[in-house]
Amino acid sequence: MSRFWSELVHGLSPYVPGEQPQIPGLVKLNTNESPFGPSPKAIEAIRAAAADTLRLYPDPQATRLREVLAAYHKVSPEQVFVGNGSDEVLAHTFAALLKQPAPLLFPDVTYSFYPVYCRLLGIDYATVPLDAEMRVRIDDYVDRPGPVIVANPNAPTGIALSRAEIARLAAAHSDVAVVIDEAYVDFGAETAIPLIREHPNLLVVQTMSKSRALAGLRVGYAIGAAGLIEGLTRVKDSFNSYPLGRPAQAGAIASIEDDAHFQQARVAIMQNRADLTAALVRLGFEVLPSSANFVFVRHPDHSGQALATALRQRAVLVRHFTAPRIADYLRITIGSETELARLTDALHEVLAQNG
Ligand code: PMP
Repeated sequence: MSRFWSELVHGLSPYVPGEQPQIPGLVKLNTNESPFGPSPKAIEAIRAAAADTLRLYPDPQATRLREVLAAYHKVSPEQVFVGNGSDEVLAHTFAALLKQPAPLLFPDVTYSFYPVYCRLLGIDYATVPLDAEMRVRIDDYVDRPGPVIVANPNAPTGIALSRAEIARLAAAHSDVAVVIDEAYVDFGAETAIPLIREHPNLLVVQTMSKSRALAGLRVGYAIGAAGLIEGLTRVKDSFNSYPLGRPAQAGAIASIEDDAHFQQARVAIMQNRADLTAALVRLGFEVLPSSANFVFVRHPDHSGQALATALRQRAVLVRHFTAPRIADYLRITIGSETELARLTDALHEVLAQNG
């Protein structure tokens, strides 16, 4: 605490990201990073950007990157906004679109950054409980006013909504913004991007951190009607003109252009997820149906906290949350085959000792 803080800072409770410890031989399955590297072409482009031109500011509009993203997603560049990770894109979205007279709605169990942005920006919000199976029920949102943000697939459950359900949500809230955070969409869910044509209130946020293995580069983006994007740009240009450096813009472009690498990596993650799910079920875990690069699991006889601690002692890191309704669960990132074998071996040992 410092007496020099503003009143705003005194009232904040910041988001706590997963740990990044330096433990030798660590199996790191706590922050949904990719076990595979980014596209070699992206690395090459980043290296090429590490040149004398770094003395010059980057393109503040990231024009070329927005053009490449627009072509990839079959929209126009005016419908694309880019930022320093999707966290920054989300922060600008909260400021630009989600502060409205009626409270912002989001699920009680979702990405825990959402309430943090609300407190930072003074946004009133109301949470809507997931149903008994930990699913988002669109019926619980349709008759309520106010803008909405949902992660699809949801985090940390991994459960996805269909595109038809998102369309129903956007139509029911046509006079306010509906934001879909698709950080994990490439691992088996349907993107809502094709819906933006018919729904001028719909904003879809994606990231290069997960399916493109570029968490360290910090590139995220939003796709929606040009009017929504203009709102985000107004906030961005009131905050930081150059959120993406030259290496980030170059690496992101090269990643989008290497579709073969992207497809191969996401298919491998989905295969490893199927194998891990089967292995965890054999160990007695309940595994929620995941469309993400993680699974959300609980064991009927062991607390989430005890399992997370026992795994950590074996140099396997998974994520445990203490929030209500999810304290029994572990969120486990889908790693490589070798990493997942280390995890299941460690779990065998722990369950045998305490069973
Ligand atoms: N949305 C969700 C649901 C996430 O889990 C994350 C990762 N913590 C993000 C957005 C932000 O990812 P990034 O800033 O790396 O794009």
